[in-house]
Amino acid sequence: MENLFQIFDIDEVKAASYKLSVIVPLFNEESVLPIFHDRLKIALSGLQSEWEVIYVDDGSTDRSHLILQQLRAESLKVGVARFSRNFGKEEAMSAGLRLATGDAAVIIDSDLQDPPELIPEMIEAWLGGADIVNMRRRHRSGESWLKKVTAHAFYRVINRLSDVPVPADVGDFRLLSRRAINALNLLEERNRFMKGLFAWIGYKHVTLDYNRDARAAGKTKWRYWRLWNFALEGITGFSVAPLKIATYLGSACAGMAFFYAMYFLLKTLLVGESVKGFPTLIVTVMILGGLQLMAIGIIGEYLGRLFIESKRRPLYLLEDYQPPSPSKEEENP
Ligand code: UDP
Ligand code: MG
Repeated sequence: MENLFQIFDIDEVKAASYKLSVIVPLFNEESVLPIFHDRLKIALSGLQSEWEVIYVDDGSTDRSHLILQQLRAESLKVGVARFSRNFGKEEAMSAGLRLATGDAAVIIDSDLQDPPELIPEMIEAWLGGADIVNMRRRHRSGESWLKKVTAHAFYRVINRLSDVPVPADVGDFRLLSRRAINALNLLEERNRFMKGLFAWIGYKHVTLDYNRDARAAGKTKWRYWRLWNFALEGITGFSVAPLKIATYLGSACAGMAFFYAMYFLLKTLLVGESVKGFPTLIVTVMILGGLQLMAIGIIGEYLGRLFIESKRRPLYLLEDYQPPSPSKEEENP
């Protein structure tokens, strides 16, 4: 049976022309933005289709905004959204997905780590029937070994814990079909762990491999503390396993404490007890205290997220949005 929820027929889209949206979240990228735009333009010029680029300026404080204004003045295919402050990349991507009007959207970093030249290949996979084209990094050049090791560990952990598989080494560089975009736009949660959300919506995923280049200029916006928080967000947003771990650890401890108590009881009854065992006492108290604090901490993480969700604040606030305007009249004002 045909999929009832298929919004359009792929062959129809192929035959007719389609429109591609390119979503670029950026934060303080003045040094790479002009180079990025040139490379993107060249990569897109080979396409048969119509396209638009939506830059989401995540509250940049450098000259990025001025550069974007200039890019928009040069081409009407460029739309520029500006956040009222720095909300974070996940929020910027969400904004881009809501503003995109294309039949498919590509999310791409502005630092040229994701080569725009791969976009035609991604479109081909989409036309072949994929709803989500994930781009898996074959190498991560220009990234420290610590980042590589921690990233690797993160994917292992999250896949152990989470209910939906999050493909390893797939970044945010990906293509989404219109129905995948619509599905994502339905998700209103504040916990925007996008890698998890992409996996959660399901549909047909295709994964292509590519070599991730080093950043063309400027420096990474991720500090380790931020990455750690990102990982926590991912784990707590997609799994309640840590809550269970706390329960199991607590039960195991209580069980051990019970047997330990039995042992002492028997020992005292059979051989009597001198005033020894002070170290055992301290160790037991400290272990139990630590476990309790840990369990409370885990509950706190979830409770904190619940608190944030319950306020139902908007995900981001726009300072302004200048959409790409396809009309010809505006070409020469
Ligand atoms: N970015 C963003 N908001 C932020 C941090 C980063 O929009 O708060 C953008 C950034 O401008 C870039 C992309 O997200 O286009 C990836 O960021 P970065 O290169 O710093 O991360 P990395 O590639 O090192 O993981
Ligand atoms: Mg980067």
